This record gives sequence, structure tokens and C-alpha cells, in this order.
Amino acid sequence: MTNSISIDVEDYYHARNIELAIGRSRWSSLPSRVNYSTKLCLDLLSRNSVQGTFFVLGSVARRDKQLIKDISSAGHEIASHGFRHHLAYEQSPKSFLKDVCCSRKLLQDISGQEVEGYRAPNFSIRDQNLWSYNSLIEAGFKYDSSLYPVYHPRYDNRNKPLDIHYIERENGKLVIVPLAVLPFNFFGKNFRLGIAGGAYWRLFPHKLIDWGLKRIRHLGGGSGVCYLHPWELDSGQPVFDELKFLQKLRHYGGISKLENRIDTHLKNFSWQTISQLVQDFEASETKL
Ligand SMILES: [Zn+2]
Repeated sequence: MTNSISIDVEDYYHARNIELAIGRSRWSSLPSRVNYSTKLCLDLLSRNSVQGTFFVLGSVARRDKQLIKDISSAGHEIASHGFRHHLAYEQSPKSFLKDVCCSRKLLQDISGQEVEGYRAPNFSIRDQNLWSYNSLIEAGFKYDSSLYPVYHPRYDNRNKPLDIHYIERENGKLVIVPLAVLPFNFFGKNFRLGIAGGAYWRLFPHKLIDWGLKRIRHLGGGSGVCYLHPWELDSGQPVFDELKFLQKLRHYGGISKLENRIDTHLKNFSWQTISQLVQDFEASETKL
């Protein structure tokens, strides 16, 4: 059983809870810690001989080209997290296309890799902006990994497929790679629990996540794609008093425990990049 670990390379202040509390206008005056925190991720993967997929923000890549080269030369996949960390559904089709094209081109120029994958900030592709898929095809992407098939206040994806699949559009097709979800039945009702990473890994009991990841395939829970952000390993990042209690909990809760937890997951399973997962999927579809 092989899972995929993905890292959304952004600074702590790009995170939604910080953005909502302090506003984007303060970003340029804050100290960047993304180089330091991404190196923590690289060390963690290297210690476990795991290759991951790094969804890099274009604005981070433009400022720190060497970091992208370091990620690429360590054998990891470079993919796109857009350019400026605007939610996909808050952009117009025109600005979204420009954002994803610019980030893809920049990342390819720096890394020398063909950039095949995209992940929207905060998984922000939902029913109202499915036109985003057309833009991603037009921009040359092979797959999108923005679908977290659960309910969240920003999106309701409870009825979306859990497994990797194609979507077809007039201008081509795209592979959709959903995040890992544990489906279960409770007193006759069907539920889905997000177990792919982020606050779910920091705040939920470690044994529950480990149990879920081990059973996900038996229960039809999809492709085993997990995620983390570099700032989730960074205990030294600034703490903002402007955050409300729940925002603080979601952003800072469990940060000191996460490195050990990820280390255990990396040891308990085998891992491949999302690009390799997509290749396997395409090969199996061709055989059918
Ligand atoms: Zn992000």
C-alpha cells in the first residue's frame, strides 16, 4: 500500500487563519521563515528516504530560487500552489488563468522539471468554480489535487468521488487526485473523516489517524494522498494576538508534536510522488 506525501510550500502568514486575522497588507513587513521551515520538511523526508510532491507558491519561488533548486535536486516533485495564494473561487477565470500560468512557468524555469500538478490554496475549487479545471487544462497541467472530499465551511464536497479519476472538458482532460478521507458508517448514516494532514494530524489523536490510514483502502477511502505545510513544523514562528481562540487552535495547536507524528507515518507506509501515482493510474486506465 503506497501513499503520497505533499507539502504546500508557503510562509506562515499565507495560512488562512493568519491572513484573516492580520490582513494581506502586512505580509511584506513580516520576516519570512519559509526557507527554514521547508528545510525541516526536506530533512524529515530525507531521513526516511521518502520522495514527496512540493506544491510551491510562485511568490515564494520568485524570492528564493535556490530553495526550489534544493527541493528539486533532492529528487522531489515540483508542483504549483498558484502564485499569490488567492482562493481560486475568489478570482475571475481570467486572473486565475494568469496566476496558474505564471507560477507553472516560473517553477519550470527554475527547477527544469515539467510541472504537472496544481493545488489551489485552501482546497478552494468547489461547485461554483469548476471552470477552474478548464483553466488548468489550458495552462498545461496534467492533474489537480485540490479536492478534499469532505464537508468544510468553505466547501461541501461530501458527495464527490474519493478515488483518483479523470474529468473531461472540451479543451482536454485532467486527472483529479483527492486527499485522503476515511468513510465510515455510524448508526446507519454515512460520514467522512478528513485524515490527510494539516490540523487533522495535529489536533486529532495520533492513533486514530494511524488507524485510519491503515484501513483507508479497505473502506474505499481513496488514494492515500496526505499533505502538510512547512510552517506546521516551525515552533519559532511569530504568534499573533489578533487571532481568535479557534483560529489560534487551528494554526498553532499540536505544532510541537507534528514532526514525530509524521516521522511515524513515513515509517509505517511506503510513499511515492503524486506524479508517480498519476502515472500508475493512467497505466491502469489504459489497460481497461
Ligand atoms: Zn496554501
